[in-house]
Amino acid sequence: MPYSTRRTNVTSATDEATPSAAAAAGPVVCRTRDELRAARAQLSGASIAVVMTMGALHEGHATLIRRAREDADHVIVTIFLNPLQFGPKEDLSRYPRTFDADLAICTREGADLVFAPSPDVVYPEGDPGVRISAGPLGTVLEGQSRPGHFDGMLTVVAKLMHLTAGTAFYFGQKDAQQLLLIRRMARDLDFASRIVSVPTVRDPDGLAMSSRNAYLTESDREVALCLSKALRAGAAAAPEGPSAIRRAARAVLVAEPLVLVDYLVLVHPTSLRDVPEWYRGEALLAVAGKVGTTRLIDNSPVLVGPGGGALDVFSNPDAAPETGML
Ligand code: AMP
Repeated sequence: MPYSTRRTNVTSATDEATPSAAAAAGPVVCRTRDELRAARAQLSGASIAVVMTMGALHEGHATLIRRAREDADHVIVTIFLNPLQFGPKEDLSRYPRTFDADLAICTREGADLVFAPSPDVVYPEGDPGVRISAGPLGTVLEGQSRPGHFDGMLTVVAKLMHLTAGTAFYFGQKDAQQLLLIRRMARDLDFASRIVSVPTVRDPDGLAMSSRNAYLTESDREVALCLSKALRAGAAAAPEGPSAIRRAARAVLVAEPLVLVDYLVLVHPTSLRDVPEWYRGEALLAVAGKVGTTRLIDNSPVLVGPGGGALDVFSNPDAAPETGML
C-alpha cells in the first residue's frame, strides 16, 4: 500500500476495492496532502460524502457520519482544529484533543478515510494572505462576538472541499450561522458542492451535544439546560407569533441568573434579520450564552404561525436569499 498510516495491517486487494471491507478494517488515516491524494484516488465510487470536524467527536458528529454513510459510496471525515477561526482570547489551546477515541468513532461509523492534518499541512506558508470573506452575514450574532471567526471557518471549509474533492458535504444545524454561510459561499462562489443539513443531536435532557460540553462542571451543566429549555418554550409559543416566541424564551433565561446571555434572537433563516411581528413562516430562534467559563450556542428552526412549532431543519435551505429576504 503506497500511502498513509492505516491503523490496522490489513492490506488485501479486496480491502481496497470495497468500502464495506475498508470500513471493517478501519479508515485509512492521512496526515499529509500526498497521503490524502493517494487514498482519495483509491475511492472508486461516484459519490463521496465529507464530514468536517474539529475532533473531540461525540454522537452529533457520529450522526453526521452515519447520514453520510447512508447516502454515499464513500465517506471522508476531516479532523482539523483550525487555528484561523479562533480569536486570540478563545479556547484553541484548551480545546479537547481525543484522536484515538475519534478514530474509534470513525471506524464504528464506517468512514473510509480520515484526513487529520496539522496546521502546517493545511497552511504550509503560514496564515493565508487570501481568505474567504463571510461578508455582512458574518458580522452578526456569532460573528459579532467572534470577529473574524467566520472568515477563518469559510477559508478552511473551502480548502478542505478542494483537498477532499467530495461530492456532498454534511454540516450540523447546531451551528446554524456556519451552515448558512457555507451554503452562501457555495452559492455565491459557484462551488459545485452539495450541502446537507443534519438536525441537532441532543443529550436526553435536551442539552445540544458539543465538544465544549467537556468544559462544563456538573452544576454548569444544570445551568446550561436553560438554553434548550428556552428554545423549547419559544417554539411552543410559535403559533402565537414572534413576540410570544421571544417572550416565552426570554422568560426561561431570565429565571436562570447563572447564565450570561449574549443574544437571544428570532431571525429570518437567510437574512438573519429580526422577523417583524406580522411574519409567518420559517424562522431561526437562536441563543448564545456563557455558563461558567464556557460559551455555548444553541438554536431551533421554528415555523411561526398557525400550526407552528419546532422544526428539525429548514424545509428549503437553498431557496434564493432574495426571495426570502426581509
Ligand atoms: P465541530 O467539530 O464542532 O466543528 O463540528 C463539526 C460538525 O459537526 C459541524 O457541522 C457541526 O455543526 C456538527 N455538529 C456539532 N455538534 C452537533 C450536534 N449536537 N448535532 C448535530 N451536528 C453537530
